[in-house]
Formats: sequence, structure tokens, C-alpha cells
Amino acid sequence: MLFSLTEEEILIRDTARRFAAERLAPHAEALDRGEGRAALVANLRELAQNGFAALNAPAAFGGSEAGSVAFALSIEELAYACAATAVTMSVTNMVAEVINAVASPEQKAEHLPKLADGTYAAGAFCLTESNAGSDPSAMRLRARQDGSDYVLDGEKIYITSAEYAGVFVVWAVTDPQAPRGKGISVFLVPAGAPGLIVGKAEKKLGQHGSATNIVSFDNCRVPASAMMGRENDGFRVAVGELAGGRIGVAALSLGIARAAMDKAKAYMMERKQFGKTLAELQGLQWMVADRETDLEAARLLILNAAATKDRGEPYAKQASMAKLFASEAAHRATDTAVQIFGGAGYIADAGVERHLRDARITRIYEGTSEIQRLVIARETLK
Ligand SMILES: Cc1cc2nc3c(=O)[nH]c(=O)nc-3n(C[C@H](O)[C@H](O)[C@H](O)COP(=O)(O)OP(=O)(O)OC[C@H]3O[C@@H](n4cnc5c(N)ncnc54)[C@H](O)[C@@H]3O)c2cc1C
Repeated sequence: MLFSLTEEEILIRDTARRFAAERLAPHAEALDRGEGRAALVANLRELAQNGFAALNAPAAFGGSEAGSVAFALSIEELAYACAATAVTMSVTNMVAEVINAVASPEQKAEHLPKLADGTYAAGAFCLTESNAGSDPSAMRLRARQDGSDYVLDGEKIYITSAEYAGVFVVWAVTDPQAPRGKGISVFLVPAGAPGLIVGKAEKKLGQHGSATNIVSFDNCRVPASAMMGRENDGFRVAVGELAGGRIGVAALSLGIARAAMDKAKAYMMERKQFGKTLAELQGLQWMVADRETDLEAARLLILNAAATKDRGEPYAKQASMAKLFASEAAHRATDTAVQIFGGAGYIADAGVERHLRDARITRIYEGTSEIQRLVIARETLK
């Protein structure tokens, strides 16, 4: 398949690229050191004001209606400068998509414009629990009906952006007797709701700028109108939305990989050993050729998944292939970049070891590589 981007997609990509270079890149290293949270939040709000927080939501609710290709291009560009900001924007877009897909007109009117214009710095997607990671159907967080309310009790873990999210999309068990995956519903819980407790901030290998927290629900009472979509239909919603998120993580992987390899290629032109630049050494040229091929293949898989989604066709298999390949290609690319830098690559000042650390999680979140293979095999053999 041949891809040609529309003028609008090119404009969105170039705007993201410019914003990333001017506003995100200067903060990326400080965020990696665990500093600069205020700058991150300011940039998230400004990205939203520029249309990047709800790229696929309808204009009637403040969204950009730009499509999934534009979303993928944007996340790649943001990740090139700062993976932590990019993952936050990816998750926020996912939250906007869930709301747009299943919420009532009133729920959309209440929350989508606030996500789209940066009133909410981010959205949080609360699915994972300590005993329900790759298998979210095993979740325990309970939502009991009490008159015209639901009361949520339980705990989610590893929740991206929980510390600054304005709204939490929360999956909970509404019918514990139902077969697995058939008794789960999804709720919209605003930040600050009594009983919603943002807990421990996790220390991580990479993407230090993005918050990852335990989120507890302790007798958290929400009105029945907080439920999105049909009761007990939430697991189907989660599975569908995860596929869209996988395009985001694939694009994030590609952005990180490109950043690392661009630094490595520039270094090869300057650094001399044995009287030659590294760029003249065939052993290293072959590494570059392999990584260039990897990144081009990743780009095509991502565009294919996004374009398939934009056409309204089933895209779960394409999204899993893009996420699997791009995240593994990012691991190879960031590792190769460190190798090309030699000892300097292992030292923080060169700025490449950060990419290696930032890339590692892309093979885990939004479904591990093993789960992507499971989806691809299931879709292929059905
Ligand atoms: C930094 C970070 C941010 C995150 N952000 C969010 C978020 O915002 N919202 C959210 O809901 N979750 C989030 N997650 C959770 C993430 O999606 C899960 O960690 C991931 O899906 C894996 O689940 P697990 O950690 O429980 O691993 P497990 O499911 O325990 O898997 C352990 C190992 O077993 C393998 N495995 C499991 N099942 C199978 C199988 N059937 N076949 C083969 N291998 C299998 C896995 O691939 C993995 O290698 C985040 C995680 C991290 C680390």
C-alpha cells in the first residue's frame, strides 16, 4: 500500500514537530531527572490548546477530528523530543476516544471539551490491577449499586497521569456472578471525587517525567449517570479501545527510536577511530542499514494500522502488528545507538541512554509483546 499524507496531516505533523523541538526538547532531560513537573503540565495544556489532546474527537465537543494517521504522526513527533510527554498525550487521546465511543451526549458535553482544551491536563485510563494485567477480565475492583449511586471499592495500579488527570475512566465489576469479562462496566470519575485516592508514585526505569501511580477507590460514590455505555459491556469497550492505544505506543516507539538513531548517525560523522570517521566503518554502516530498514517497516505498519482505523475497518490485528514490531524495533535501535556511541553512550551526557530506558516499557504497556502475538495469532487463525 502506498501512503500519501493529506495537507492537514502534514500540517499537524509539522506543528507537532515544531512544538516538540521548541517546547518539549528543552525540558526532556530535566523530566528524566524527575524535575520539571510544572513545565510538563504547562506543555500538556498548551498541546491541548493546539488540538493534540482529542485528535479523534468531534469538533462539536472541541475535538480536532484529525483522524488516527494524524494522531500517530503527532505522537511520533512528540516522542522524538520527549517520550514522557508523548505517552501522556497518547493516553489522554485514548481517554477522549473511549468517552467519544460510549458516553452519553451529556457525559461527552461535560468532559470532552475539558480534555480537548486543556482544562484537564490529562485523562487517566484505569484498567490494570495487581492480579489483572495481561488478563484484565480478572479484575476485582467492585462497583456496587446503592440506590441511584454506584460505590467503587478496590485498587488500580500503574495508572499513567493519575497525579494531574482531570478525569478517570475506570473499569469495575458490576456483576461478580457473570462469566469472565461479562460483568464489567466502565465509569467516569472526576479528579477529586471523595474516595478516589491517588497513591504511591512508582519509581521506574525510564519515562520518568510521566507519573505512574496506584489509584485506590475507597467507598467512592458516583451517581449512576457516571456509568458509560451499557451495564456489563465495559470489557468489550476496553478491548476495542486498547487497539487504538496500541497505535499510539507504536508511534511513541518510532519517535524514540528515530531520536536515538539520529544522534548515533550524527556522532558517526564526527567521531574518528583508526584515522577514519565511524561512518566509514562498514561494521557500523551495516548496523545503520538494519535499523533504517526496521524504522521504515515500523512506519509503514503504523500508517497501515492508523489508515485502516480511519477507514472504519477492523484494525486490531494491524494495530498489534504495528505495536509489536515498532516497540521491538525501538529496543534494537536504542541499543544500537548506545553501541555506536561506545562508552559515551553509557554516560548520561550523550543523551542516548535515556532513549534506551524510555523505549523499554513500549514492549510492556498497552499489552506486552507476548499479548500482541496472541492477538495477531488469534486474528490470523480465526
Ligand atoms: C509505566 C507503566 C504505565 C502504565 N500505564 C497504565 C495505564 O495508564 N493504565 C492501565 O490500565 N495500565 C497501565 N499499565 C499497565 C500495563 O498495561 C501492564 O503492566 C501490562 O499490560 C502487563 O501486565 P502485567 O504487568 O500485570 O504483567 P503480567 O500480565 O503479569 O505478565 C507477566 C509476563 O507474562 C506474560 N504473559 C501473560 N499472559 C500471557 C499469555 N497468555 N501468553 C504468553 N505470555 C503471557 C507477559 O507477556 C509478561 O511477560 C502501565 C504499566 C507501566 C509499567
